[in-house]
Amino acid sequence: MSDRGAGPSTAAVPIPRPQRYDFDAIVVGAGPAGSAAALELARAGRSVALLERGPFPGSKNVYGGVVYGRVLDGLIPGWQQEMPVQRWVTRRQTMVLSGARSLTVDFRNENWGRAPHNGATTHRAEFDPWLAEHAQRAGAVLVPSTVVVALLRTADGAVHGVRTDRPDGDLTARVVLACDGVNSFLAKQAGLLGGDQASHTTLGVKETLALPRGVIDERFGVTGSGGVDVEMLGCTGKVPGGGFLYTNAESVSIGLVLGLRGLARAKVRPEHLLAELKRHPSIAPLVRGGELVEYSAHLIPEGGYRTMPPLIADGLLLAGDAAGMCLAAGIWLEGVNFALGSGMCAGRAAATALATGDTSAAGLAGYRSALRSSFVLADHERLRDAPGLVLSERMQQRYPGLLCDFAESVFAVDNPRPKPGFRALLRRAAKRNGVRMRDLAKDALTGLRTFG
Ligand SMILES: Cc1cc2nc3c(=O)[nH]c(=O)nc-3n(C[C@H](O)[C@H](O)[C@H](O)COP(=O)(O)OP(=O)(O)OC[C@H]3O[C@@H](n4cnc5c(N)ncnc54)[C@H](O)[C@@H]3O)c2cc1C
Repeated sequence: MSDRGAGPSTAAVPIPRPQRYDFDAIVVGAGPAGSAAALELARAGRSVALLERGPFPGSKNVYGGVVYGRVLDGLIPGWQQEMPVQRWVTRRQTMVLSGARSLTVDFRNENWGRAPHNGATTHRAEFDPWLAEHAQRAGAVLVPSTVVVALLRTADGAVHGVRTDRPDGDLTARVVLACDGVNSFLAKQAGLLGGDQASHTTLGVKETLALPRGVIDERFGVTGSGGVDVEMLGCTGKVPGGGFLYTNAESVSIGLVLGLRGLARAKVRPEHLLAELKRHPSIAPLVRGGELVEYSAHLIPEGGYRTMPPLIADGLLLAGDAAGMCLAAGIWLEGVNFALGSGMCAGRAAATALATGDTSAAGLAGYRSALRSSFVLADHERLRDAPGLVLSERMQQRYPGLLCDFAESVFAVDNPRPKPGFRALLRRAAKRNGVRMRDLAKDALTGLRTFG
């Protein structure tokens, strides 16, 4: 893991209800969720501390590389002119790999290279400080190199601050926003996150490979500031998961997302699977000669809506990955936009609760309704079955082969034999891959219900 230190281990610290508070709000974690929340609170005129364990925001954070930033329209007007962008995504692909074969759905739209844009590749070490700076300019106090090790709670269980790893490092506030990412220690201490997390957590591993700009342009068929986002299925061996490949200005990011349990069962190392992916005939020409400049790994909460913890307690809100809000639905691997959206809702709900003087769970309940009326919970709720479907045995182990077999038989010219019909080809591909037509129809229906 690239996150610093082992993290907090102590239980919540009991305190008497403070007579006065150091801050109105404390936000833990200066990732996209935390900075968005702090920005909203500061804009509402609230005193807010933004605590970050890294030496600067984004210093240790890992992700694939694409931000779908339209959610920023409501947070930083004009963000498209000032965000530190590597490339604007003008081409999106979903690729299914099976053995040495691949089948790709390739969509390009040059309009995405112009405002309002669809998505951009950006480095977290540039994106996170940019966002945190907006929060600071609005009045939030950023405190880096500071690990929050415990929640401070009054006798009635309400959260009223945090303990940090600094000497005399207790800070009190009327409300705490836990934006401390996947495996949130704060959510655990508050009793909101428990159970079998390993079954719905994946490990993301990523390599950044330096390549000259012109080489990337040529290989990926883009020009200027245009870039490509490729999501992959069928590239993780026996481990449930998927892959990604994104273009930056002068590097590409390639990685895998691997189910923790499957990884342990398969007894295979992630870097070996990644090396295999880079050798695949459809991928090797794209990454050839790339110089490894970074290897990183991080956990991802992939359970979606069905595994989300409660989002609110007395004096406490969870946002972003801490609340399990990463969307992992095959064609989509998005977490930053959900972190931004939930951070904004959390910041606004906390500001409203502070204004009414009620930061109990009831006073903070506006958070949930705001999330529900935004894409954050709406998408998660509608796509609640997607993680199960995408990570299912058939989807992972059988459909990549079935689709490649089907494509192969459609594209192969087998004269002098007459061409068989698509239905016959599909039936044959299904049989070869051990899929009953009944299950195929059932999964297609579930897929339609889930994504439709
Ligand atoms: C390999 C990989 C690929 C991904 N690809 C994409 C992608 O391409 N696009 C996308 O949108 N999403 C992607 N994601 C998901 C995305 O990274 C997350 O969903 C997103 O970063 C969540 O934001 P967050 O602010 O909730 O948490 P984080 O970004 O994890 O931020 C949490 C912050 O809290 C800090 N922190 C943690 N504990 C403490 C503590 N105790 N005290 C103080 N500070 C603390 C951390 O240092 C960190 O800065 C990917 C994730 C991985 C791992």
